[in-house]
Amino acid sequence: MSDNVMYDSPTEFLHEVASEGGKCVAQSVIPTDAGDYRCACSCERWEILAPSREEGLRLARAHTGSVPE
Ligand SMILES: [Zn+2]
Repeated sequence: MSDNVMYDSPTEFLHEVASEGGKCVAQSVIPTDAGDYRCACSCERWEILAPSREEGLRLARAHTGSVPE
């Protein structure tokens, strides 16, 4: 047994992220066909539409607590 955690492959890393049980480790801001931006988080409890990429990023930071709202 070792305290060191090593990731042998990206797949293993993603599996580890998935097994984290919905933590806010990654956010995505993806443009939609409607012209706005769908923002989602790896915790799968947060998904919104933003009018711009900047607003989406701001809301993502607010969601993860990186900035005071
Ligand atoms: Zn989240």
